[in-house]
Amino acid sequence: MSAPGSAITLSIVIPMFNEEAVLPLLVERLRPLADGLRTAYEVVAVDDGSSDATPVLLQRLRRDWPELRVVRLRANSGHQAAISAGLQRARGDFVVTIDADLQDPPEVIAEMLRVAREQGVDVVYGVREDRSTDTAFKRHSAGLFYRAIRRLADIDAPVDAGDYRLMSRATVDAINSLPEHNRVLRFVVPALGFPSASVGYTREVRAAGTSKYPLAKMLRLSVDSVTGFSLTPLRFATWLGLLGGLAALGVLAYAVIARILGHALPGWTSTVVIVAAVGAVQLLALGILGEYVGRMYGAMQARPTYFVAHDSLEGAHPAQPVH
Ligand code: UDP
Ligand code: MG
Repeated sequence: MSAPGSAITLSIVIPMFNEEAVLPLLVERLRPLADGLRTAYEVVAVDDGSSDATPVLLQRLRRDWPELRVVRLRANSGHQAAISAGLQRARGDFVVTIDADLQDPPEVIAEMLRVAREQGVDVVYGVREDRSTDTAFKRHSAGLFYRAIRRLADIDAPVDAGDYRLMSRATVDAINSLPEHNRVLRFVVPALGFPSASVGYTREVRAAGTSKYPLAKMLRLSVDSVTGFSLTPLRFATWLGLLGGLAALGVLAYAVIARILGHALPGWTSTVVIVAAVGAVQLLALGILGEYVGRMYGAMQARPTYFVAHDSLEGAHPAQPVH
């Protein structure tokens, strides 16, 4: 079941931003592997608005590599957006997304494909079993990140799975049907609920060039992950308001008792009560506002509340979103 008009089995989507240093190494390793799969494939190189020689190198490569397809984004739009662009355009029955820097060993693609076929699953996650080549900071921040998301957002995302994964056509169609912005695919995919499996791999060191993920982009990804899947931070104000309200009641009781016992200065009681009560009311009002903003946010994301996998009346239509 390919996309209409194509007979491509596998699409390999590779986001790249200023990857001139690593591109020749990537091609040298990936091309023999892809050719060796003995299946119709395409490589969808998504040039995320690179300002180095990446686009020139890609065009040159295309001359004698017919399976290479180049999609260039006008501006640097970020890793996740680049992957989304690739998924929208990929035509294969299966689609693999992989980083350009050879940190995700391309040899694993064959295993992912085999697992998907043998086990009949829609998603095969590449799970980093050994991250010893990453810096200690990256390992610890990543560990904290995955744990925080699992707790806050309650999604059953495999720990230590990044964006190296294989997806079936049905999964890709489902992702493409989501209208939401700033999606973090490593959490969106598990939330869709397609049958999945994992293969472990060792995360290698970047083969050349430098990381295109500075701290600012990492923080952006974390904020998008939490706010994309959880209203907990928004509800925080409601809880603060409730706590503040309780505290104000306590202060009120204390002030009244102090007044009765004659320990209070004139005017003190009313001042304290007013300050406490106003603060509590404000926080509560903010919380209520937050609840409504949250509902609007949900409606704006327009995420289907479920995907039907099968209906005995109609047969399988796995990619049909239901609102
Ligand atoms: N990337 C991209 N756009 C960006 C940043 C990164 O397409 O704005 C690509 C990059 O070329 C690479 C992948 O995303 O193929 C992962 O980036 P990188 O290896 O720099 O991240 P790290 O492994 O350091 O977290
Ligand atoms: Mg990398």
